[in-house]
Amino acid sequence: MLSVQVPPSDQQTNYLPAGEKFRCRKAHSPMKKLIVFDLDGTLAESKSSLDAEMATLLTALLGIVKVAVISGGNWRQFEQQLLANLSRGEHLTNLSLLPTSGTKFYQYESGWTQLYSEDFTDDQKEKINSSLKQAIGSSDFKIAETWGEQIEDRGSQITFSALGQQAPIEEKKKWDPDFTKRKKIKALLDNLIPEFSVRLGGTTSVDVTKPGVDKAYGIRKLRDTLGIAIQEMIFIGDALFPGGNDYPAKEAGVVSIQVRDPNEAKRVIEAIVACLDCVQHPKLGQEESR
Ligand SMILES: [Mg+2]
Repeated sequence: MLSVQVPPSDQQTNYLPAGEKFRCRKAHSPMKKLIVFDLDGTLAESKSSLDAEMATLLTALLGIVKVAVISGGNWRQFEQQLLANLSRGEHLTNLSLLPTSGTKFYQYESGWTQLYSEDFTDDQKEKINSSLKQAIGSSDFKIAETWGEQIEDRGSQITFSALGQQAPIEEKKKWDPDFTKRKKIKALLDNLIPEFSVRLGGTTSVDVTKPGVDKAYGIRKLRDTLGIAIQEMIFIGDALFPGGNDYPAKEAGVVSIQVRDPNEAKRVIEAIVACLDCVQHPKLGQEESR
């Protein structure tokens, strides 16, 4: 298995400066063996499919290193957003998929196999649903129009999508770009259902899971299932700030790279692939640095 080195830890969660590319550097951090991605807003626009360029880059990455995707989305979303546009083949055995914030885990052999799923009881679902409705009802903002259901039961996660699950992406982007509205909903829910974990995700979503079951949980499952140390992973996501649904991955101790959107994630993947080339052809790297 080939490994990757990333920039030093003092740059681990900063945005890339405009026009700047990642460079291969000699660092004292452990070699990286697993690249972990968020899906919505990182590999693809929210609830949209992977574009052709991202599919090509991911396929190239899967050819040389193990990759995992952890998302608040359910398995159906993984099939529609990720797998439908990813070419089939041997490289998929390098891919691990963790829907609903890591409460489910899929691996590929001759097809996709579910390793585990941690579902809510009916009583827990009822309490979460009624608390969500109460929190929305007592918020100081109004939602004028919705597209589809607002509350989705994903078995091991209940997701509130403010404008509905079929809302147009342009409407979603306008609704809560600075997370202000969803932070208020989260504060209300933290009081109403303190026994559950509440995270902000997607562009208009609030995710509720069992306590302790979040992307940090998924990271530890990756460590245990794949036998790869947390120090040997890199996490790439668009919500690594406190309260964001990627933040638990950073809290778990993974070197984390914040990206603004899929375009920036593509540049990070290109850089990781280039770093692998440096590992494979060290003399080329030396010549470029002169
Ligand atoms: Mg995201």
